[in-house]
Order: sequence, then C-alpha cells, then structure tokens
Amino acid sequence: MRKLIAGNWKMNGTQEDLPDLDTLAKAHGDASVDVVICGPATLLGRMTTTGLTIGGQDCHPSTSGAHTGDISAPMIVDAGATYVITGHSERRTDHHEDDALVMAKTAAGWHAGLHVILCIGESEAQYRNGETLNVLRAQMDRSIPDGATPETTTIAYEPIWAIGTGLTPTPDEIAAVHAALRAYLEARFGAAGTAMRLLYGGSVKASNAGGIFLLPNVDGALVGGASLKAADFSPIITALE
Ligand code: PGA
Repeated sequence: MRKLIAGNWKMNGTQEDLPDLDTLAKAHGDASVDVVICGPATLLGRMTTTGLTIGGQDCHPSTSGAHTGDISAPMIVDAGATYVITGHSERRTDHHEDDALVMAKTAAGWHAGLHVILCIGESEAQYRNGETLNVLRAQMDRSIPDGATPETTTIAYEPIWAIGTGLTPTPDEIAAVHAALRAYLEARFGAAGTAMRLLYGGSVKASNAGGIFLLPNVDGALVGGASLKAADFSPIITALE
C-alpha cells in the first residue's frame, strides 16, 4: 500500500477555502503518497472538483432514514468522496460513540465502498497509568470488524492528549505503540495486517513530521489543525514522500 497523509478539517471550512485547496491539489496532484482531505459534509461535493481524494469525517451506520442531521456512507459516496473517518475521539466524546457503534459505522463505510480510517487512542489518564496498549487492544477488538483488509481499512493511532495540544509522545513511544499495533493486526488479520496502513495523529506539523515518518510501522499521518492551510499541509506531505 502507498503511504497515506490525511487531513481532518473537523468543523472548519467554507467555500472561501476552496482556492487554497486548489493550490494544494496543484502542488501535490502527482504525489507518490495518497493525499486525502476529510472535509465538512457541506463542502464534500465541491472539494472533489479540486481533483484531490476526499473523505467524510463520520457516517451513520444506516444507509438512510429518520436520523436528523446525520449523513450516511452512501451519501458520502454520492458526494464523490472515497474515504471516511470513524471513531475519532471527538466523536467518541462529543457524541458518546462507543466501540460497538464505531464498528457498525466502519462496516457501513465498507459496505458503501469507502476506505475507512478508523481512529483509536488513549486518554491522558490512561497514558499516565501505563494502560495505553491495553486500551488500544480493547478498542481494536471491539471496533474493527472481522475481514479488515489494507484496501478497505487504515488504522489511525491518535493519543487523545496529543490532539490539538502541541504535545506528542516521544519517538520511542510512538514506535513502541505502532509495533504493538502491527503485532495485533498481524495476529488477527495475517498478511492483511502486515500491509494495513498505520497512521499517527496528534499535533503533527511540518517541524515534527519528518521525524515521525522515519519511525517503523508509521505509514503516514492524520493531521488536524495543520491540514487547514496549503502552506502548512504541503510541507507535511513532502516530508512523507
Ligand atoms: P491535530 O488533530 O493535528 O490538530 O492535533 C489531529 C486529529 O484530531 O485528527
């Protein structure tokens, strides 16, 4: 699989941001890595006109129905997007999403033909208590459906305490967690687990991306704040290439 750099715009972005996204597309249209922007639902259709690969940030487990304010995986496909994020810690916190729901959303994404970036991560208290690996294994047991493949699924490790804080684990800590995640994926999915992409996310920026991308079992990044402007995101993409 090619490496993957995904931008998560969260609840940001209006039409005014599209020219800047065009600039990003022009600069990295022939990138040797996969570049994905996970935009707000309101912009997904327009974002596809840039030629970039576009993703949603969440999907409902059902395909349609009486779910005011929700968006289904087939609707994301209809907008022209090909990726979706599931299990982001902000969804787990803001919308009380548990692992079972994340699993259902992931299956819904697959069913619609979307590539799912499934997020896992420990809280600061869990990190301090040395519970990180147990928390991550439990999240993967309960939220990754059976049958995950590199073609359908990417796992993003995002320590909750590193998201939007400017804090990151040390390189050794990231490498140790990613080695453990790889071992889990290989034990559960065999060769598919060897090839499945593992992203790091949490305060990735131009100044730390190069070091993080050198680490074994880091196949790219999920980037929040630093993905909003082409000037910030572009050097991170270049660092992965
Ligand atoms: P951040 O967010 O890069 O702003 O820390 C990452 C994420 O939440 O995906």
